[in-house]
Amino acid sequence: MSYNPLDIDRNHIWHPYSAIGKQQTLFHVDSAEACTLTLKDGTTLIDGMSSWWSVIHGYNHPILNEALKNQIDKMSHVMFGGLTHDPAIHLTKLLVDITPTDLQTVFFADSGSVTVEVAMKMAIQYWTSQGNMNKQGFIALEHGYHGDTFAAMSVCDPINGMHSLFANAIMKQHFVPAPISGFGKPCEQQDVIALRECLEQHHETVAAIILEPVVQGAGGMRFYSAEYLTQARSLADEFGVLLIFDEIATGFGRTGKLFACEHANVTPDILCLGKALTGGYMTLAATLTTEKVSQCISQGNPGVFMHGPTFMGNPLACSAALASTQLLLASPWQENISRIEQKLKTNLAVCRTLESVADVRVLGAIGVVELKHAVDMSVIQQCFVDQGVWIRPFGKLVYVMPPFIMTDVELDKLCGAIYTVIKDHHKPN
Ligand SMILES: *Cc1c(COP(=O)(O)O)cnc(C)c1O
Repeated sequence: MSYNPLDIDRNHIWHPYSAIGKQQTLFHVDSAEACTLTLKDGTTLIDGMSSWWSVIHGYNHPILNEALKNQIDKMSHVMFGGLTHDPAIHLTKLLVDITPTDLQTVFFADSGSVTVEVAMKMAIQYWTSQGNMNKQGFIALEHGYHGDTFAAMSVCDPINGMHSLFANAIMKQHFVPAPISGFGKPCEQQDVIALRECLEQHHETVAAIILEPVVQGAGGMRFYSAEYLTQARSLADEFGVLLIFDEIATGFGRTGKLFACEHANVTPDILCLGKALTGGYMTLAATLTTEKVSQCISQGNPGVFMHGPTFMGNPLACSAALASTQLLLASPWQENISRIEQKLKTNLAVCRTLESVADVRVLGAIGVVELKHAVDMSVIQQCFVDQGVWIRPFGKLVYVMPPFIMTDVELDKLCGAIYTVIKDHHKPN
């Protein structure tokens, strides 16, 4: 090779939230198997991130590999305009079966952010189809995260969500404080007052409320009372706005229920899925809606939903999603999640004794250690690798969401590394 691969990377490749040309610590992965990443130099790391919530069955799974190989030999892709295929049909049937009963239609998109765009366009078209051109705004929660494209950004937390940078380009939406009542607790009236007031004031120009049920992910890893969903549902109905649940992070078992909305048995009008949908094999996401929404859009003016990506319903991605979801349902996933939850609770508790730690919280297969001060990524990332684990904190949050198959021994090592690294390398000032 006439060039240094890492120089090519540093000078020519954008990574998530990265800069070009700066010395950033990058680890060169060669392969991955089950819960282990193997680097080029032979180092092995236990993966605590599931590649951002998605690799729920672990890497290089024989059943998923097989499903993809079979599909490749038939066709990797075919356009979805005017054509259809088995992977999309069977996946749709399965998604409609396992999500709340009223959700009956599926729109396949390429990424989570795009499903949020699609959900927002559907909500707007639901109203314009009825001749109402006024309802095009959205109500979102502070600390929310819904993706990086423009409409998705507009409903992300206004402080930590890049709004100031793109201020003149971002649609102005309404924000209400995120619920304070914790998971497993009743929802205090205090939590819904702001939502009610916002709806009283703005319902005539609001298409929908959008929120992440129970777990706010990238906006702060906060867990909140499931009863808030019940309240949001009845307020949405009372004021005539739709309710969108973004389950891109929480879907497919992560919180202990197949979908987080099941903690309150609340059905949204529109549901966004992504991340774990394909078991982390391919990029694919889905927007589900009720018949009320799909019928209204289909029978109004212009009588079609105005979105259609080139790679919509990609057969390879759909077969990965079908195989992954079937594998999940056939596995003892509830037992795995509660085993991981217990392990994380037991093993992370000791972090509370560290002076630099503000809070430790666990829900399902999500473990969070919140620090008093932001970590120094240039130091802490290498420390985790030195401990043989892959954990990528952001801000004050050191968190893990392991693959559901992670063993107790691996979980011990993962949690031990968190304690050691915070104790030795993250000072409380
Ligand atoms: C990751 C995420 C998104 C964005 O999905 P991408 O595939 O990164 O575009 C949206 N909403 C939530 C809740 C997420 O966790």
